[in-house]
Amino acid sequence: MNAVARTGVKPKVRRRPPRPHLLSELQSRNAGRTFLAMKTAFTGRECGECHACCVLPYIRGLRKARNTPCKHLKSKPSSKGCCSIYEDRPPTCHMFECGWKIFPDLFDDSWYPPISHMLISGGLFPLVTCEPQHPDAWRAEPYYSQLLQIVRSERLPPMMIRTGGRTFWLNADGTTEPVK
Ligand code: SF4
Ligand code: SF4
Repeated sequence: MNAVARTGVKPKVRRRPPRPHLLSELQSRNAGRTFLAMKTAFTGRECGECHACCVLPYIRGLRKARNTPCKHLKSKPSSKGCCSIYEDRPPTCHMFECGWKIFPDLFDDSWYPPISHMLISGGLFPLVTCEPQHPDAWRAEPYYSQLLQIVRSERLPPMMIRTGGRTFWLNADGTTEPVK
């Protein structure tokens, strides 16, 4: 049974004509460049019940600590999202790009954060952050094999994993090195 069926959580996907040619063209054109530079067009994926990016990362400008819900999170998310200051959210939030939303061909539905318990983000490099309650999520299958496959394919810049207060590089041979 795959992760989506096991958890019963289903990501929301808005149907619009797929643009795979644009996705692959952008990805090949940006190969070897930064994660953010590889931002792609609309993919149809929506946040739904997820708000991992408003909980797990440190948010500059808000002094929001890691693994702490942002004080601006709505208690009841609406169709307009879960941020109560959306129009005035700080630049860090404005610039955030969610790897699950922008790389559907690399990260399938099982990577939806409420299912995988991981957030994929990044600036210069992609960063996989595990929820504190699931520090070994990155080692579980199907995720670990897919991460190695992505690293070996070199379709993204080198990948970092953050879990249990540590951040490290994931090498193509499965070894790890601390980020200094
Ligand atoms: S982590 Fe991704 S899917 Fe979840 S709320 Fe943030 S942008 Fe949406
Ligand atoms: S300001 Fe809004 S978008 Fe930024 S972390 Fe808080 S709730 Fe999320």
